[in-house]
Amino acid sequence: MSAPNASSDKPGGTLAKLGRIFGIGETLPNESEISAAGERETGNGHMRREVERRKALYADVGDFLFAHDLDITPLNFGLALDYITGNDVAIEKAVRAILSDRGRITNGVAEQIIADQRAEDLTPDSLTEMLAQMEANLNQITGIADQSSNSAKDFGAALQAQAAELSKENAGGETIANLVSLTRSMIEKTREVESRMREGQKQTRLLQKNLENARKAAEQDHLTGLPNRRAFESTLREECAIARENGEPLSVAFCDIDHFKAVNDTHGHDAGDRVLKFVAGLLAKVSGDKCHVARHGGEEFVLLFRGLPVAEAAKVVDDARADMASRNLVDRKTGERMDQVTFSGGVADMFAHPEPRDALRAADRALYLAKEHGRNRVYIAREPEQ
Ligand code: GH3
Ligand code: MG
Ligand code: MG
Repeated sequence: MSAPNASSDKPGGTLAKLGRIFGIGETLPNESEISAAGERETGNGHMRREVERRKALYADVGDFLFAHDLDITPLNFGLALDYITGNDVAIEKAVRAILSDRGRITNGVAEQIIADQRAEDLTPDSLTEMLAQMEANLNQITGIADQSSNSAKDFGAALQAQAAELSKENAGGETIANLVSLTRSMIEKTREVESRMREGQKQTRLLQKNLENARKAAEQDHLTGLPNRRAFESTLREECAIARENGEPLSVAFCDIDHFKAVNDTHGHDAGDRVLKFVAGLLAKVSGDKCHVARHGGEEFVLLFRGLPVAEAAKVVDDARADMASRNLVDRKTGERMDQVTFSGGVADMFAHPEPRDALRAADRALYLAKEHGRNRVYIAREPEQ
C-alpha cells in the first residue's frame, strides 16, 4: 500500500488531524523544555498533563496497530485514533463491529472502512449541488411558462377590446393598425419565449446527463469497472425481492485475494492494481442476468447468484478459484514471474438466515475460515441452528 504523501494532505486530512492531536506544528513545548522551565513557570502542570495525555494516546494507538499487525500508515494511524478516541462515531462503530465479528482487523478491512466513509462523504454533496441547480432551472422554466401565459392573457384581452372597436360602425384604419401591431408584438414575444424555453431545455438535458454520470460514478469502482459496494447493496435488495417472489434460491459469496499485501510489497502497488483488475475480469466472466459481481472493497469481491442453491454457487466460485490458481501471472513492467495468485471464498444461502445481513456475515465468516484453514479454498457457511 502506498502511504499518502504528507505534502498532499488536506487541512482536514489524516496527517493534519494527527498533527493537531500530537501537537506537531503547534508551539507546545516538549517534555524536556517543560522540566527545565518547571521552576520558573506557573501553570505548567496543565502542560505536563497534556503531554502525558498525548503520550498515553500515542501508546494506545501504537498498541492497537501492533496488536492487529497493521501497517504504520497515516490511514491506519487515523483509523486507530478515531477508534480509540471515539472522535469519529461512524469509524468507531465500524471498527467495533469488525472486532466483535472477527476479533481482529486487517490492513484491507481498515482501508475498506475508510473508503466507505469517504464514499459516504462524497456523493451526497455533489448530488445536493446538482439538485439545487436542477431546482433553479425548473424555477426558471416555470417562470418563463408563467410569463408566457400572462402575455397570452394580455394579448387575448387586447384582441377582445380591438374586436369590440371593430364591431362599432365607425371602426377604421386605426383599429386595424392596432391589431397588426398587437399581432406583431405577440409573435415577437412568442419567439423570445421559445428561445428561452429552448435554452432552458438544453440546460436541463445537460444537468440530466450530469446527474446520470454522477449516479453511474457513484455506483462503479474506478479501478476494475465493476459495480461497487453501494451498487451491490441495491442489487441485493432487488434480487432478494425477485427471488422471494419467484421462490428461487439466492446465494451470496465473498472472495478475497490471498496474501495480496505480499503482491504489493513484492511487485509494487501498480502491479497489485493490475492483479486486482485481472481477478475482477476473471470473476466477471461468471456474471450474467442472474449473477452479479461487485468489488466489495480493497481486494474483496462479492457475488450474488439467483437461481443457484448454495452448493452450486460454491461450485461456480470454486471453478473460478481453480482457474485463477492455474494462472502464471507475469509482472508486465519487469517481465518477472509472479508467485501464484489465489483467492479464498465463503458462500452462504441467503434465505437460510433471518436477514440478508446475517447471510452476508455468514459468508464472510466462511471466508475467514477458508483463510484460516490454508487459503486457496471455498467454504460453504454453516446454516444457523433452528
Ligand atoms: P489475506 O490472505 O489474509 O487476505 O491477506 P492479505 O494480505 O490479502 O490481506 P490484508 O488485509 O492484510 O491486506 C490487503 C492489502 O490489499 C492491503 C491493501 O494495501 C491492499 N489493497 C487494497 N486495495 C487495493 C488497491 O486498490 N490496489 C492495490 N494495489 N492494493 C490494494
Ligand atoms: Mg481483505
Ligand atoms: Mg486478502
